[in-house]
Amino acid sequence: MPTGGGKSLCYQIPALVRDGTAVVISPLIALMQDQVDALRALGTRADFLNSTLDFDTRRAVEATFLAGDLDLLYLAPEALGTPGVQRLLDRGNIALFAIDEAHCVSQWGHDFRPDYLALSMLHERWPSVPRIALTATATSATHAEIATRLQLEGARHFVASFDRPNIQYRIVPKNEPRKQLLHLLRTEHAGDAGIVYCLSRASVEKIAEFLVDNGIPALPYHAGLDARTRAANQSRFLREDGLVMVATIAFGMGIDKPDVRFVAHLDLPKSVEGYYQETGRAGRDGLPSTAWLAYGLQDVVQQRKLIDGSDGDLAHRRNLAAHLDAMLALCETVECRRVQLLAYFGQESKPCGNCDTCLAPPESWDGTIAAQKLLSTVLRLHRERNQRFGATQSIDILLGKRTDKVAQHRHDQLSVFGIGTELSESEWRAVVRQLLAQGLLAVEGEYGTLALTEGSKGVLGRQREVKLRREPERAPTARAAKARSGAAAPVQLSPEAAPVFERLRAWRAATAKEQGVPAYVIFHDATLRQIAAEAPRTLTALSTISGVGEAKLAKFGQQILETLASGED
Ligand code: ZN
Repeated sequence: MPTGGGKSLCYQIPALVRDGTAVVISPLIALMQDQVDALRALGTRADFLNSTLDFDTRRAVEATFLAGDLDLLYLAPEALGTPGVQRLLDRGNIALFAIDEAHCVSQWGHDFRPDYLALSMLHERWPSVPRIALTATATSATHAEIATRLQLEGARHFVASFDRPNIQYRIVPKNEPRKQLLHLLRTEHAGDAGIVYCLSRASVEKIAEFLVDNGIPALPYHAGLDARTRAANQSRFLREDGLVMVATIAFGMGIDKPDVRFVAHLDLPKSVEGYYQETGRAGRDGLPSTAWLAYGLQDVVQQRKLIDGSDGDLAHRRNLAAHLDAMLALCETVECRRVQLLAYFGQESKPCGNCDTCLAPPESWDGTIAAQKLLSTVLRLHRERNQRFGATQSIDILLGKRTDKVAQHRHDQLSVFGIGTELSESEWRAVVRQLLAQGLLAVEGEYGTLALTEGSKGVLGRQREVKLRREPERAPTARAAKARSGAAAPVQLSPEAAPVFERLRAWRAATAKEQGVPAYVIFHDATLRQIAAEAPRTLTALSTISGVGEAKLAKFGQQILETLASGED
């Protein structure tokens, strides 16, 4: 099931219905407290055991479990390996085992946790307890690996649609990434919570600082920060409204924040799986959200370099390269992004009307001659001069630029000098990028020099055509899309209801702070909007609003009615 699709319900409901305690295995120790808080706010008896608890708290949780007074008990996988915890579970009544984030058992995946491999012991030690494994990872190869490693081969396999209709996918050419990001945040996501992903720790720090300097509250998150800072930043992101988290992919798994309005990538993700997982953290509440990626030639060069220099055998590098190629194909497609994304996971769909290629269809053009000119430049540099250069020098030659470097190498004497003036520099960069994506050109070595491939020969020998994508003049904006998207629209607030909503938000922020829980644990934005719009005057009327359950009505109902009434005089 995709992120936000309701995976937890698949074990939470059985946990309530079945006798005994459901044991939930989760790798996300830092999030257990929030998960348990959210369940308790709904009136569920939940608790957790992990290394962060002191002795007395631990004993108290164990006693509650043994007394049969827990519906759900969260455990870290490493805890299960300890004899003490195993004996504890032996003495209690277990309703089921739920293995969350089950793709952590996959050794090829980027979230591999060695402790997950030991989870096959569950059915050896407790053979009669049912088990369920859950993941938001979509490829069937990962599913098969999960089943094998957890010894669930005979189990039934359920796959939901991976479509997230409220997320608008946009992939734009990277020109001035900081400026582009700032423009996106200011024009479409002012005051919104969101995540900005960068490849390196250094760029995380720089971008976070850049946003703060420009008046946008932002925090950094990467594996180089000490554990305390990471935990503090994560906690602030979850608890406060409108913060931007700038992070490496170390951040995000299991983050249950429903109102993340955008996920922006400033660097190319390594795989379509990664892109899908990361963008999936936007819009868990079902409201319109943006997945925005800026992508350029340098990304391709950098990623290829990383693969060439990576540890592991040839098969591993081939695997990485195949992942990158699929990601590049998604970036360069002239078809609907969503159709291509879902097709990657083996699901068929129709053009969505809520991605950039649907909203502003790019043209495709016959780039055969342009490709021949570029490849010929690379060929001549190599053959006539025994030289290899990167994209910039090749483009300068095509454009007939008399730079110092051109003069130094006498590249103005090459027959290809100045034969490419029909395209601009940025258009040439797009040609290089797309030839790389199509495997008709390669980058090599430390300096990312251009080299020909097997496929190049077919182009140079005029045996094949090259179709290229031309960027649309005007990029679509979220506003244009909202009208056409199939996403649930947020409740539109009347001028009278808007201040009521703000008052409710202020009440929620104060209550969340007082109770030490994230604001969304109290109520989601969508629920507060609905309350502001309907302005119920009784608890009965309030109870009909989606998101106001029995437990929350009892706990907060009166306060909500008072908050509503407080503005009427
Ligand atoms: Zn589309």
